[in-house]
Amino acid sequence: MATRPAAALLAIGDELVLGEKLDTNSQWLADRLGLAGLRVLEHRTVPDDREVIASAMVRLLGDAHVLIVGGGLGPTADDLTREGLSDALATLTGEVHPLIEDDSALRDIQAFFEKIGRSMNDANRTQAMRPRGAAAIPNDHGTAPGLLARFEIDGSPRLIACLPGPPREMRPMFERDISPILEGLPGVQAADLRVSQVFGLGESELATRIADLMHRENNPAVGTTASSGMVTCRVRVEPTRPVAGPYESREPQAAVEEALAKIDSVADGYVVSRRQETLAGTLLREAEAAGLSLATAESCTGGLIGQLITAEAGSSAAYAGGWVTYSNGMKSRELGVSEADLLSHGAVSGQVAMAMASGARQRSGADIALSVTGIAGPGGGTSEKPVGTVWIGVASPGSPVSARGFRFMGDRSSIRLWSANTALFIGLLAVRSRLEVGLLREMFSVSE
Ligand code: AMP
Ligand code: MG
Repeated sequence: MATRPAAALLAIGDELVLGEKLDTNSQWLADRLGLAGLRVLEHRTVPDDREVIASAMVRLLGDAHVLIVGGGLGPTADDLTREGLSDALATLTGEVHPLIEDDSALRDIQAFFEKIGRSMNDANRTQAMRPRGAAAIPNDHGTAPGLLARFEIDGSPRLIACLPGPPREMRPMFERDISPILEGLPGVQAADLRVSQVFGLGESELATRIADLMHRENNPAVGTTASSGMVTCRVRVEPTRPVAGPYESREPQAAVEEALAKIDSVADGYVVSRRQETLAGTLLREAEAAGLSLATAESCTGGLIGQLITAEAGSSAAYAGGWVTYSNGMKSRELGVSEADLLSHGAVSGQVAMAMASGARQRSGADIALSVTGIAGPGGGTSEKPVGTVWIGVASPGSPVSARGFRFMGDRSSIRLWSANTALFIGLLAVRSRLEVGLLREMFSVSE
């Protein structure tokens, strides 16, 4: 069996090197290449400089069989990927690859301008140039055709694909024209990837509980990543390699199922989903399935929970709406929080969180109401209630209204995001009638 081909990524653009713009293309491409079954060796980012581009291409293709290049295909003088590729091909193959005009690419560019009702200028004409021996890849979403060259180095095949910089042009081109070629390369076997998402257990705690699944030489191998409270466990199996690790005697698919079942059992209660969806997406899907509606009452998150929920298509099926009650006056007037609670416990307290949730449930008529009140900082903290103190309340059918207190770390935006995510997770526990599940970062819990 041929070994898995190796791939590298090259991002081109002054704006990327200078930090004015984030290279999101390489992240997206690396993920796709890994899923397609290639080994991703390296990412590089270089400025719009012909010589630097050419030498980066030559260097990266020393180790990688496949090089995916992004950017620098625009019509302006600083777009030099075409020239860089021409120079690199000359160095790599020992033959000149001068730029020539591609008739079909030129027609496509002219047609694109006709479609949008503008005339093509000479700068755009340069986008029809390609090195001799390379192919132009049609671009249905913009003017810049991609470029594809295939050749050999000492009998070993190499592929270099140059894709346009704008993600909305690059992604469809990769999917339609590059992906199928990569899938057909000898030695490429798509890895099978499953995920299990867990919320509220620390990544290190979870990793300790599944340590035997996480050895790098295992097949399937489990890896974890964490983001604002959500830990994603990726279970990845290479179907052509023998199963190795704790499930050695099983078939690959059975081993994957066992690994997922083990994660479920060690993370019982904290498992969100196996569908690689957002927390809000899981909450909405399960609430709708259970015929339960949701409402929110937000203070320190200022509508962030509502935003995360309504970012999901179809959210209206389960989300009734919510309040942003920042001041004490608004908490009282809009949600019926009592002056006495506000005075004796303060706006950031379990009592006020509970009163907000009760008020929101009553006044919205929704089945489940979530509330958040806290101190996102950087100012406003005290020794008793430091920055990051957040109370989350929940009112739901079948259990008394309750609130849990948390101490979140980080800056204002991460405290707000942790708060919103934790509220969404508590909403999910309410939908599942599993509000008894604790949360590790919980400070204390009170109920009426
Ligand atoms: P270019 O093809 O270099 O003219 O780039 C066109 C647009 O795509 C510019 O707005 C770039 O900032 C953007 N772009 C280029 N490369 C990337 C990348 N790696 N990630 C995200 N955006 C990019
Ligand atoms: Mg550019």
